[in-house]
Amino acid sequence: MSINRINVERILERIDQLAACSLGKRGVTRLSFTPESRCASRMVERWMREAGMEVRTDPLGNVIGRYPGRKPGAPAFLIGSHLDSVVEGGKFDGALGVVTGIEVVQTLREQGIRPDLPLEVVAFCDEEGARFHTTLLGSRAMAGTLDDADFDAMDADGITLAEAMRTYGLEPLRHREAVREPGTVAGYLELHIEQGPILERENQACGIVRGIAGASRCRFRVEGRAGHAGTVPMDLRQDALNGAAEIVLAVERVAGQMPSVVATVGQLQVFPGSSNVIPGRVEGTLDVRSLDDEQRHTALRRICEEAVRISRRRRLLFACRTVMETAATPCAPRLIRAVEEVMASYGLSALRIPSGAGHDALAMAALTEVGMVFIRCRDGISHHPDEDVSPDDIRLGAAVLLDAVLKLTMETASDGRGGKPLKEAGVRRTT
Ligand SMILES: [Zn+2]
Repeated sequence: MSINRINVERILERIDQLAACSLGKRGVTRLSFTPESRCASRMVERWMREAGMEVRTDPLGNVIGRYPGRKPGAPAFLIGSHLDSVVEGGKFDGALGVVTGIEVVQTLREQGIRPDLPLEVVAFCDEEGARFHTTLLGSRAMAGTLDDADFDAMDADGITLAEAMRTYGLEPLRHREAVREPGTVAGYLELHIEQGPILERENQACGIVRGIAGASRCRFRVEGRAGHAGTVPMDLRQDALNGAAEIVLAVERVAGQMPSVVATVGQLQVFPGSSNVIPGRVEGTLDVRSLDDEQRHTALRRICEEAVRISRRRRLLFACRTVMETAATPCAPRLIRAVEEVMASYGLSALRIPSGAGHDALAMAALTEVGMVFIRCRDGISHHPDEDVSPDDIRLGAAVLLDAVLKLTMETASDGRGGKPLKEAGVRRTT
């Protein structure tokens, strides 16, 4: 059983060591291209070498460890996640996928197993984009979807991404050298904490991600008329905030009627914003997500129709514009199947869950087939110092990742029959 071969103490120790690469002691703050991120990258490089990998850093600062396969010239199968964090985030977000990826290779090496395909563990830089508001930077670079303008992004101190990278010793203009040719990559599988409460509700340690939700981000405005809070009778008011309040509840109602859709009003600004003035204008944000792009568009249309109806009744004006839109990214059926079979072998049900959050797999889907394994996190808490994952869940998740990787990197995997997981024994040994 490969679950007994997973060294969970080593994983936990490494997670704690990475967590120490943090600015400040409350949770983990490891922003991109900082001394903290350098400290984490160096550690990861060392562990990769210890696990028997050849290590390189690409022009973006992604750390890549390669465990050669038996088949010459075969495309590499990639596993990994990100090393950066949000401000005062948790120690498992991203780090768990990198550390379990290294553990998979280290276990293979310790068991004397060499897969047919080369296996690469990638520690992506700048997934969260907390410093420059540039999400998925490392994975987009690898997939070839970055452009030069991305490097003009600025942090809170007015330092551009390009400047920060140069100070860090990287050359941003060489970002195209990080692009991988599709023919050299056989797939990407990422293990990540769920960052939500579904697995906990279903009482299961891990689940398979069906796909990453598409998202629409909108800004809306409700216009009314400001007035004196003491002199204008209630029936003569055009209170923009009262209208916005009703619109917010309509958002909740519309999304609540559509099982695949979630929608959030996360920001509201009230103008003029004075205790004795009737609100004349409200500006807000609307975030709508779904794995089903058509349902997302339908939800958005219904929300806008409702908002217009509410505004008319209240003699207000409503305007909404979409500022960002991404399509849903389904995970590859081949990878889903491989993970599902492995989970079944551990007695786990094939729980397929959508990912409402973006991950490196989202960017990597532009390059290759992607799959994700989610691990249950306590109370669904993430991006918070209280983020927690149980050692038993980590052990099982790492075993699932290991067996799935073996299925996908053995020669038979390429003809669709799938390789044998380690637990079935009889795997090829290194010579
Ligand atoms: Zn993450």
